[in-house]
Amino acid sequence: MEGITAAYLVAGDRPALIETGARTSAPALRAALAEAGLAPGDLAWLVLTHVHLDHCGGTGIVAAAFPRATVVVHPRGARHLAEPRRLVAASAAVYGARWSLYGGLDRTAPDRIVAAEEGHRVPVGPGRDLVLLETTGHARHHMSVYDKATGTVFAGDAAGARLAGGGLYPTMPPPDVDLDAAERSVARLAALAPERLLLPHFGPVPEPATDLALAAEQLGRLRAAAASGPDREPLRRALEEELPLEATVAKPEAVARWRRLRWAEANVDGLAGWLERR
Ligand SMILES: [Zn+2]
Repeated sequence: MEGITAAYLVAGDRPALIETGARTSAPALRAALAEAGLAPGDLAWLVLTHVHLDHCGGTGIVAAAFPRATVVVHPRGARHLAEPRRLVAASAAVYGARWSLYGGLDRTAPDRIVAAEEGHRVPVGPGRDLVLLETTGHARHHMSVYDKATGTVFAGDAAGARLAGGGLYPTMPPPDVDLDAAERSVARLAALAPERLLLPHFGPVPEPATDLALAAEQLGRLRAAAASGPDREPLRRALEEELPLEATVAKPEAVARWRRLRWAEANVDGLAGWLERR
C-alpha cells in the first residue's frame, strides 16, 4: 500500500532518518535512501518516535544496511528493538488478519541503540540538533522530534493522521493510550508554533497551527464519547456520533484506507483500554 507510512531524511553532516515505516516498507525506503545519494556509511542516526511496527518495523533492516547509524528511541522502546519477540507477538495479536501489511521487526544489536530521555539532542550538523520531546498519549513511550533551526516538528502520531489527502483523524490504538497525556502533548506541540508539521501518516500538513487546533478539538470529542464507558459497542457508537470517520476524513480514497487498516476500529479498543485502566 502506498501513502501510509512516511519516513523523513534530515540532511546534514550527520544525516538522520526519522522513522522507517513497517518492515514491508524497507525495500522502498532503502531504494529512496539510495536515490537520495546515501551510501551505507553515511547515515548517522535513525530516530524513532515510538515502537509501533508501522514506525519501527524496518529498524533491523536499516541498521544492518547502514552500519554506522545509531538508533535513537525512548527508553521504554529500546529493549523491544534489541529483543523484538514480545512486541512482535503482541502486535500480531492486535493486527490479526492485517499482519501481512506490517511484517514484523528484525533485531538490532543493543550497542547500536541509544535510550533517549526527554530533551535528548541528536546532532545533525554545526549548530543544528534534533531535540526529542516526550509526547505521550498515543503510546506511553511516544516522542516527537523538534528541529528548531527550521521550525519543523516531526509529530509521530501525537496529532493524528491524514491519509490520502483526506482530513485529520486521531489514532488511539491499544495497548497503552492515555487521552489526558494526548491532550497535553498536542498543547505542547502547538506551543512550539511550528512552521512545518510532518506526519508519518502521511506527509506535511498544509497549516500546522490549524491542524494542531483541530487535533485538540478532536481529542475533546473523543473525551466526550468516552463518557459512554468502556463497553465496546456503546463506545463505538458514541465515537461514530462525536467524530464520524467518513464526514471527518471526507475523501473516499482516505476513508477506504482507514477502513482497510481498521485504525478507527482500533481507536475503540484503545480508548476502551484507557477507560478500563483509569
Ligand atoms: Zn503508533
